Amino acid sequence: MGYPDLPRTQLFIAGEWADSQGGETFSVIDPSTETQICEVAAAAPTDVDRAVTAARHQFDGGEWSRMSGAERARLLIRLAELVEANAEHFAALEAREVGKPYADTLAVDVPLAIETFRYFAGWADKITGATVPVPDFMGKLRFSYTERVPVGVVAAITPWNAPTMITSWKLASALAAGCTVVLKPAEDAPLTSLLLAELVAEAGFPPGVLNVIPGLGAVAGAALTEHPGIDKISFTGSPDVGRIIARAASESFKQVTLELGGKSPQIVLPGADVAELAPVAAASLFANSGQTCAAGTRVLVHRSLVSEVAEALREQAAAQRLGDPFDARTTMGSLINARQRDRVMDYVAAGIEQGATLVTGGKHREGPGFFVEPTVFVGTNDLTIAREEIFGPVGTIIPFDDVDDAIRLANDTRYGLAAVVWSHDIPTVLSLTRRLRVGAVWVNAWGAPDPRLPWGGTKTSGIGRELGLSGLHANTEERVVNIVY
Ligand code: NAD
Repeated sequence: MGYPDLPRTQLFIAGEWADSQGGETFSVIDPSTETQICEVAAAAPTDVDRAVTAARHQFDGGEWSRMSGAERARLLIRLAELVEANAEHFAALEAREVGKPYADTLAVDVPLAIETFRYFAGWADKITGATVPVPDFMGKLRFSYTERVPVGVVAAITPWNAPTMITSWKLASALAAGCTVVLKPAEDAPLTSLLLAELVAEAGFPPGVLNVIPGLGAVAGAALTEHPGIDKISFTGSPDVGRIIARAASESFKQVTLELGGKSPQIVLPGADVAELAPVAAASLFANSGQTCAAGTRVLVHRSLVSEVAEALREQAAAQRLGDPFDARTTMGSLINARQRDRVMDYVAAGIEQGATLVTGGKHREGPGFFVEPTVFVGTNDLTIAREEIFGPVGTIIPFDDVDDAIRLANDTRYGLAAVVWSHDIPTVLSLTRRLRVGAVWVNAWGAPDPRLPWGGTKTSGIGRELGLSGLHANTEERVVNIVY
């Protein structure tokens, strides 16, 4: 697999491809070679307005608004089939624009996106309310029921780290619920969203149900967030931008789902099998070069196992092979851009300066490509590297003395996305998991979210849930009907 064919690189509005109104474009770079892949149209505020108008038209009485759940399900299943038929194309585009191994994308991201479309297709004709027993109303019989109705036009704003998968989360749940969508993909990685737009048209969705408007966050993202025609914003990205979006949404009381960052703990309890956990613990640190929101970057280890875990992670790091995302031997690709590489290297420098012990890594490669070595420190939970999300392949082993200490450290963070517990002592695991302030816990494993399970965080990791039934309901509102007779 070499350079994939490119999808259309214009804006997709009301089922048609068009340049931005001012003719602006931005470059998409292959971060593993630092060469330009292509120029993509950059939506101006007037383009955003056209996209929202198209989505509103379909929602407020267009063909889409009259479709049954069963018809929406059929379209979503057709879309899943088309994504499946184009799986290699998606994986190749994502590997190119994100710099992550093609094999990982083909094995994990794309199949999970397909699963997500299929899963939510299954819900589209099963969105039900309830009949609620209520007292008579002023001496007359009263029959009351609830129904779940689509929330409206959803603005979906996505990050660059797993574009195929994360876009499917937002799109599948919103379309199953009957919403229409304006999607603003990340400027570093818009290509898979543009391929998806082609397939949405091919699947037969009415024009305007999905509009894709690549563009800069501060221009297209801001115009979309502030647009009065948007009913809900579904955002995945950094807490800093999440805060801007929540503020903008509050002006017109838009609903928001915020999937933000993480600083997730992996808790290695006494007696854990270090040889068994090491490869997965390392994957949690180094997969996608650490650019994973659920990365288990604080490795909390019982003091009796610190040397053994440090040695095991050093060996795992040594076994990583950095390089061309399309080389089957590559296990780690590049970081997304020079800014991210420099940011990660600044954190590494801060770790060393603040007295953490470097176990392995700590260097970046000279270009081309933004490659950073898998890096492991031993340190404490108060260091900058243990407090801030680095979004690079950097983990910190932090010793603890007993279970209470482990829980205190695990919760001593402003984030609360995920946690991993390594132990086969089930009573201890259960007593521990119920005290973790996080949205998801893995015990003796770590992996990508499953579409059937809700996904989201507490504290600075976000508001609301995507995926699962909760993710469907997040795209609906409840309406109560009282019939008095
Ligand atoms: P980012 O916040 O910089 O950008 C995300 C999106 O927001 C992009 O599309 C960007 O163009 C847009 N944006 C930027 N400024 C905007 C503005 N003023 N108004 C509206 N939109 C704007 O995040 P990123 O660097 O692309 O992604 C990395 C972050 O995403 C990390 O913090 C990571 O943890 C988080 N993330 C979270 C999850 C999750 O499920 N919780 C999943 C993946 C990534």
